[in-house]
Amino acid sequence: RRQALLASSTGPGRTADGEPVQLLLNIGEGDPGAAAVHDSEGVGLMRTEFLFLDRAQPPTVAEQTSAYTRLFTAFQGRTVTVRTLDAGSDKPLAFVDTGSEDNPALGVRGYRTARERPGLLTDQLKAIAAAARETGARVRVMAPMVSTPDEAAGFAELARAAGLEEVGVMVEVPGAALLADHLMRRVDFVSIGTNDLAQYTMATDRTLGTLPDLLDPWQPALLSLVGTVGAAGLHHGRPVGVCGEAAADPLLALVLVGLGATSLSMAAPALPAVRHALARHTRDECARLAGLALAAPGAAAARKAVRDAADPEI
Ligand code: PEP
Ligand code: MG
Repeated sequence: RRQALLASSTGPGRTADGEPVQLLLNIGEGDPGAAAVHDSEGVGLMRTEFLFLDRAQPPTVAEQTSAYTRLFTAFQGRTVTVRTLDAGSDKPLAFVDTGSEDNPALGVRGYRTARERPGLLTDQLKAIAAAARETGARVRVMAPMVSTPDEAAGFAELARAAGLEEVGVMVEVPGAALLADHLMRRVDFVSIGTNDLAQYTMATDRTLGTLPDLLDPWQPALLSLVGTVGAAGLHHGRPVGVCGEAAADPLLALVLVGLGATSLSMAAPALPAVRHALARHTRDECARLAGLALAAPGAAAARKAVRDAADPEI
């Protein structure tokens, strides 16, 4: 019965009372044509690191333009959100020398790389803009690891100067989440990366396998930061996405929507169950579930409270 319910869930994301919640894909290396076959409203996170990894030199603008053109062509008519290079930390690059860092997750990574190597970012933006001009996708661009409103403004200026119109930042540092109100004035949208936001909120290295309870995305402290960003997005009329692994858990997806997420981005296999969960709860019910999770003293209690209150069919 559950299989049949999932199979019958198609089309755009909607709550039971018809509120749209865009359902998007996280993609990276691989054939964009194959990704485009899935029933999604577009791409919420295109990780671009694969274009830069295992190379002695960065890819040229022309090389990058052809990769982005393939992607945008495959998703013609849909939204495609490209994340600029997230180098450093768990994604080191041969041609970016960050020196030796004792704590690379706290060092020069993501947007911070542009301090030393601005050309890497401006070339990438140039290539994304050129590909966007050639194709019919609705292209959005966002920077990883933005920590301050000034950094958000700096990125937005570079991206708009390159000719890109929809510019956003990822919120994956608690400091950025706390100043979400200021971020919203500088960019067109934000997307919350719960993988890194959990790591930095709970002071727990995401590459360790030994502390899974602390990295649990049900941690109420993490959800509280998501709520801060969601409220700021609502106040400023800016879309707030979630593109970390948390969005792929159907029960947690309800909580994220209750906290103000307007889109959820995930790996393709997770889409049907999240779509189905949304279709069985109204926006108000999602808000009530979010309240239960926020009021819990820990991750396990939050999950249980929401599990007990949500529709048992999901
Ligand atoms: C995140 O941090 O949640 C995220 C989506 O980005 P990545 O996993 O690539 O760091
Ligand atoms: Mg991240």
